[in-house]
Amino acid sequence: MNGTVRPAPDLSVIRDDVRAISAYAVPDSTGLVKLDAMENPFALPPEVARELGVRLGAVSLNRYPPADPRDFKDRLAQAIGLPAGMALLLGNGSDELIHLVIQACARPGATVLSPWPSFEMYDLASRFDGCNFVGVPLAADFSLPRDMLLAAIAAHRPAVVFIAWPNNPTGNLFGRATVEQVVEAAPGLVVLDEAYLPFAQDTWLPLLVRWPNLLVLRTFSKMGLAGIRLGYLCGDPAWIAEFNKVRPPYNVNVLTLAAAEFMLDRRALLEEQAAALRAERERLLARLRSAPGVTAFDSAANFILFRLAGGSEAADRVFARLRARGILIKNRAHVHPLLAGCLRVTVGTPEENDAFVAALSASLQEP
Ligand SMILES: *Cc1c(COP(=O)(O)O)cnc(C)c1O
Repeated sequence: MNGTVRPAPDLSVIRDDVRAISAYAVPDSTGLVKLDAMENPFALPPEVARELGVRLGAVSLNRYPPADPRDFKDRLAQAIGLPAGMALLLGNGSDELIHLVIQACARPGATVLSPWPSFEMYDLASRFDGCNFVGVPLAADFSLPRDMLLAAIAAHRPAVVFIAWPNNPTGNLFGRATVEQVVEAAPGLVVLDEAYLPFAQDTWLPLLVRWPNLLVLRTFSKMGLAGIRLGYLCGDPAWIAEFNKVRPPYNVNVLTLAAAEFMLDRRALLEEQAAALRAERERLLARLRSAPGVTAFDSAANFILFRLAGGSEAADRVFARLRARGILIKNRAHVHPLLAGCLRVTVGTPEENDAFVAALSASLQEP
């Protein structure tokens, strides 16, 4: 540099709404028992990991991914029992597919609607992609407020309705009959987000043939492959063809495709892990319910939402104390009034869950 002082960058070209928010917060979890992000806690058995290494070593990294990985999609369709006549779109995590659906529908003034609180990405993606977002408050017991929801759909005419099945962060499955009414009343698309399928074991996939405006969104993340970033959207080929136009070419990389194909052949392993986590979930739920001042909610996912009698201050205090004891969970107390006093814990290994329960008891007893 020749002695001149470099001025700070002028950020005024950045959108005001972007400058006003902070980046999606991923806390540093170094050295902590990580029970905050709904990850599967089990590593691959060493011999499977070695085989995977060999498989990935054979991938041509010098080539772009296939434009349309037909073989992989056919195998995936067969593995999940995709109804005949339906199509699949692959995404870099289901996060990307949420964006693609919204981008394709984002006419000026378009609205995206979801029961709320739910998955934050529906709101964020809508706003980034230029849509209005309407969150319809859940009932106090986290069920769908049927009349309010139908009234909101009639008033806002949303281009897209997202429904997480089961819901994150509350963990419950909504009533099927109400969801069916939503699908029938919606003037546009309804996306059923089945991120927690391995833990809910309940799906809308067969119903794609019944409603032309229904889409089913799924991910490899919660079943144990969060690191590879692979999601898929299922629905009528006419919709999929439109979303495919806004998809960045090569959005799913060759290592992800190879790893996913490898794991599809070893689905039984992931299913065993999910079964172990479902059993752990029930054990953890029972122990949370026996803790004084704790209300733990039923869950069809791999996490449990629980409320502390002392409200959000107690939640903040217990969250900090757990962290000081080496346990990282998620504080949801301040994201919505319905979640006042609420913390969310991901179901971990039996040892991790034991460590969490011990740290929670100690944190609750601390003066
Ligand atoms: C975790 C989660 C996802 C997963 O997103 P990926 O990008 O596939 O990791 C999607 N929907 C909901 C409701 C979730 O909780």
